[in-house]
Amino acid sequence: MSHTLNIYEPLSIEAIRAEFPILQTKVLYGGHPLVYLDNAATTQKPTVVLEALDEYYKTINANVHRGVHYLSQRATDAFEEARRKVASFINARYDYEIIFTRGTTNGINTVSSTFGRAFLRPGDEVLISAMEHHSNIVPWQMACEYYGATLKVIPMNERGELDQAAFATLIRGRVKILALTYVSNSLGTVNPIRDMIRTAHTYGVPVLIDAAQAVQHMPVDVQDLDCDFLVFSSHKIYGPTGIGVLYGKEEWLNKLPPHEGGGEMIKTVTFGKTTYNDLPFKFEAGTPDMSGAIGLKAALDYVDSIGIDRIQLAEEALMSYALDALSTVPGIRFIGEAEHRSGVISFLLAEHHPFDVGELLDKQGIAVRTGHHCCQPVMDFLDIAGTVRASFSIYNTPSDVDSLVTALQKAGRILG
Ligand code: PMP
Repeated sequence: MSHTLNIYEPLSIEAIRAEFPILQTKVLYGGHPLVYLDNAATTQKPTVVLEALDEYYKTINANVHRGVHYLSQRATDAFEEARRKVASFINARYDYEIIFTRGTTNGINTVSSTFGRAFLRPGDEVLISAMEHHSNIVPWQMACEYYGATLKVIPMNERGELDQAAFATLIRGRVKILALTYVSNSLGTVNPIRDMIRTAHTYGVPVLIDAAQAVQHMPVDVQDLDCDFLVFSSHKIYGPTGIGVLYGKEEWLNKLPPHEGGGEMIKTVTFGKTTYNDLPFKFEAGTPDMSGAIGLKAALDYVDSIGIDRIQLAEEALMSYALDALSTVPGIRFIGEAEHRSGVISFLLAEHHPFDVGELLDKQGIAVRTGHHCCQPVMDFLDIAGTVRASFSIYNTPSDVDSLVTALQKAGRILG
């Protein structure tokens, strides 16, 4: 593995693939080699991550922060080192602006419920976009319902691009917070979040960015973006499941009340009153996912060893190859044709149901996702039941794309 960060040096995808044991899978039915194109749902894990998890349980495992003994101190050091790694990966100003969560969904719920409690009042508005994942809709809907606020939605066009004129109007309302996805998981759209954050700030509105589909594909610098909160999931960036990250600017995290109560998030407890711990512990009640944090650190080290800029270039080249190759498939219709796209290609094959297409691809060893991708409002807007979604990662090759194209042609012939 090259550690040089020359972004123009071509990547050896074969060397990268060799680091992911699961990619050797033969899909049962016909012994087809696995073509894994469901990376937006979850990514596979390189050996370094698997080894870090194994090593953790074999040599470090102990509960963090509370113990004076050797192992507990080692576990605490490793856990806090993981936090520093995340902070430097997204360029947070302070380590304590990084809160470990269970994932993107848990991070959004943490903000929606605490922000709601502190700031949402009847008549206030929460602004989201038309292309949000259910996990960036439902928590806000729940908060709005509870506090008497109104959920407003930035509309999009048929290509899957947000209507910036409508945004400029909506943001002038009684908006208390804007929650927006960086990259759409159903359409692949990359939203112009830097500009939108700047606009929101001119009206004093804080912004939460859902970076679940961004951090693994492009450099994300929270200070440069100037977002107030940003969330992502470890499992979508080659790390283990069950852990994720909530970044919050210090001033905002300090303004919010704690989310869950329990051990770790307190300074003192009496039956009469509890005082809360400082950041980041105020938001980390209970025993955290120690092995998960250490696995996530290994995953981010892995990404850094290749270089996120090089990953971005390689994936962009693969995406454009895939778009050209897929457009030769008879009857294909792309869903989402925004000018800036990343990671995801959604499509339909003639009038066939996405599920039927997905099943026929599976029989040929190709893993894609079909359905609404947790974006039912996107499907309703486009008046479709769902899409077939191929999503890419650093270990995918042009040959994976060729296999997809051949398998789609065959599926099209079978379905008539
Ligand atoms: N937001 C987006 C854009 C996503 O793609 C996903 C995962 N599909 C989520 C949120 C939810 O992530 P998780 O299930 O890991 O909490």
